[in-house]
Amino acid sequence: MKKLFGTFGVRRIANKELTPEFASKLASAYGTLVKGRVAVGGDPRTSTTLIKHAVIAGLLSSGCKVIDLGILPTPAVQYAVRNYYDGGVIITASHNPPQYNGIKFVDEDGIGIPEEMELEIEGMFFNENPSRVSYDEIGEVTSNEGLIDEYIDEVLRRVDHNAIKNAKIKVIVDCGSGAACFTTPYLLRKLGCEVTTLNCQPDGFFPGRNPEPTEDNLQELIKTVKATGAHLGIAHDGDADRTICIDEKGSFVMGDKTFALVEKQLLQENQGGLIVTTVATSSAIYDIAEEFGGTVTATRVGDLLVARELKESDGLFGGEENGGLIFPDFVYGRDAALSTAKIVEIMALTSKPLSQLVAELPAYQSVKMKAECPDDRKQEIMDKIAADTQEYEVDTTDGVKIFRDEGWLIIRPSGTEPIFRCFAESKNVDDARKMAEWGISLVNKHLEN
Ligand code: MG
Repeated sequence: MKKLFGTFGVRRIANKELTPEFASKLASAYGTLVKGRVAVGGDPRTSTTLIKHAVIAGLLSSGCKVIDLGILPTPAVQYAVRNYYDGGVIITASHNPPQYNGIKFVDEDGIGIPEEMELEIEGMFFNENPSRVSYDEIGEVTSNEGLIDEYIDEVLRRVDHNAIKNAKIKVIVDCGSGAACFTTPYLLRKLGCEVTTLNCQPDGFFPGRNPEPTEDNLQELIKTVKATGAHLGIAHDGDADRTICIDEKGSFVMGDKTFALVEKQLLQENQGGLIVTTVATSSAIYDIAEEFGGTVTATRVGDLLVARELKESDGLFGGEENGGLIFPDFVYGRDAALSTAKIVEIMALTSKPLSQLVAELPAYQSVKMKAECPDDRKQEIMDKIAADTQEYEVDTTDGVKIFRDEGWLIIRPSGTEPIFRCFAESKNVDDARKMAEWGISLVNKHLEN
């Protein structure tokens, strides 16, 4: 059992649990395993500089050379590592509130490190000590000033620049004061879009809005899209690996719709291909694959599992229902910049408004609920639910996914919180809600016994 790592990295309250001592020791344990050139970058949180310097000290002490990339999106670090370095450390708490921060380690392909390596790092952290090199083996810290421009240029190369330019798309961009402030507004202007920015000054207090791009948190963006007659609203989370869209009518577009839209485009462009996603993703992804000559593989929930599967199976495209899209020929992780460019490209090539593009997708309704459950009872309850639902067709890749006539329901224990997540999908919202409620009732029933 892992003691420190969650689904991707370590996330804690900064300078309380995630202290410089903690960060430095963890980084030297990672550095002991890598012993090479390690890129370090992070989001604009108030604690990022503090933790980054501790991480750099830890890496140097274990004999690594460090390339300090500064403040930039998580996928830009992953891009840099894949192309130039032996490993990478990202200081970010993604969409969490400002008091949090986190440390993500990636391998030489820029993919989140595998569980075995996390366990090795924890072993060194708690039991043995990381190795410390002698004074004459300490490496240096350098920078890579051109990296962000290169990352933006690589996105530009992957879309039809002229088509987008000619479409003259008006976009409102809400970076939530996160790492995307350094990329998305510049990217869209280079693509010839007319850009208005909202919360595009980096600020670790996130004064404009909460860094999680939920519909509630994006009300200002929605109002601005409506008031200005823009064609599109774009929002990112704190570390700019996720893109959320608002259509020209001001409607919030669910992440699985964006995923389906880009999937359709890529399958058409490539005449088929392998799509990788998680078991919690919409049936629309399967419907589109079938229609456009693709195949789908589903992994356990977690973006790094999708990324690894894409690499191992040479997949075309992958993603999650939360709007995290993975383009494996670019970055082995969720990438918000190429997601944004692809959306405007699709709008330009089809000359259709986003609301219409979404309306043309297979229609499913989803409902997400959660039930509290202590961590030490999760396995027992999971086993009981599996025994309880034997009359149905089930998939146990992650938790229990139950297929019924009206749709499907997945019940799975959260990897980071003392809760079960129940996620249901159906052709109509009432059926989805009823199935999600049924899932909650199954958890509660076994919890009481
Ligand atoms: Mg994120």
